Amino acid sequence: MGDDLSRFCCHNPQCPDHGQRGQGNLTVCMRYGRHNRRLLYCRTCKARFSERKGTPLFDTRLSNDKAIAVLHHLAEGCGVRQTSRLLGVSKDTVVRYGLRAGQHAQQLHDELVAFSPSDPRGPVR
Ligand SMILES: [Zn+2]
Repeated sequence: MGDDLSRFCCHNPQCPDHGQRGQGNLTVCMRYGRHNRRLLYCRTCKARFSERKGTPLFDTRLSNDKAIAVLHHLAEGCGVRQTSRLLGVSKDTVVRYGLRAGQHAQQLHDELVAFSPSDPRGPVR
């Protein structure tokens, strides 16, 4: 029962293997949280990150640019209707992204808890 990591890639922009899948550079260094999420480790740059990193923008129909714009408008205090009108996105979509961002905030919290106190500095450089 090995871990299939072929759909994951390193999230460190400085890493030579950044965004490359199936390079064999990733390993699972620990599991954490209520959902037994995996913390992945990149052997190339020695960065660690959650397997859920970046999830709000994954498997969605909007382009990343538009998704980020939606989240940005919500974060700036625009209402759902206003964001929908300004960006030409359906209200349902705006609401869905808002919910996803909320879940991601919880994930970020879980990651911070997982990192501390043994390694509060994050990846070693
Ligand atoms: Zn890396």
